Amino acid sequence: MMGLSRHQRSEKPVLNMSKNFREDVLNLVKQIPRGKITTYGEIARELTGSVRAARAVGQAVARNPYPIQIPCHRVVRSNGDVGGYGLGVDTKIRLLREEGIELKGRKVVNFEETLFRFNEETLRFVTDRMLGKLSTWLRILGHDTIYAGDITSKKGAEDEDNALIAFAEHEARMILTRDKNLAALAKRKGVQCRYITTDEVMEQLKELYHHNISINRKPLAVRCSECNARIRKVEKGEEDMLREKSYVPTSMIGTWDFWICERCGRVYWEGSHWRGMRERLRQLK
Ligand SMILES: [Zn+2]
Repeated sequence: MMGLSRHQRSEKPVLNMSKNFREDVLNLVKQIPRGKITTYGEIARELTGSVRAARAVGQAVARNPYPIQIPCHRVVRSNGDVGGYGLGVDTKIRLLREEGIELKGRKVVNFEETLFRFNEETLRFVTDRMLGKLSTWLRILGHDTIYAGDITSKKGAEDEDNALIAFAEHEARMILTRDKNLAALAKRKGVQCRYITTDEVMEQLKELYHHNISINRKPLAVRCSECNARIRKVEKGEEDMLREKSYVPTSMIGTWDFWICERCGRVYWEGSHWRGMRERLRQLK
């Protein structure tokens, strides 16, 4: 299992528009399947834990350099109105209709059924500095997990505890910690928190399962275990990207499915590594 890399970048709540924010928004837009729509607010919530950034998401979508390839016509307003579009609202309506979306005027019919939600019902976490390995495993299992070392600079200080609690509250994340004091403080403040009693990562996962915290049981190819960003499938014609990575088994390019993290560049594939992880998870009772 690979440790946490020093190239990690945190997923701090971003309310102003940075280049990374725009890229993160557009990467999410790429995940909206044909025949579905999502809203500016859903994307904001997925990225920052709050719908407050919906406007910034709208601005990021408006600067989509590849409309069509990056299907930003599938992003609409939360009231069902199709909203704006770089190539004109009529084009947006036509594209949506071609994809099977039913519209009445500018409004999406059956909005709730057509709405695509990211990461639905998947628990999100923030882990303390003692739980780096557990963070990696939670990401492998598809859970959005922020590691304390990536969002705070102070180690072990009371300030850090308060910062973690505020962060968890703001982003509706559950805190996982080896620190009894932090757990007690979180409890007093009414923030979801679980005190982990063991040091070995498999034992830690077992604790979570035993406490009926709904953790996925199988690895999911959705999240980068190193930096927590979402990963995407490497498409046909992009294989050169894989050959640049010395650790990728070149003989399997074109045979296996590969995924890439667009934030840190890490490539993943279904191989002995994942089978090993699945086996270890199966042994957890
Ligand atoms: Zn990454």
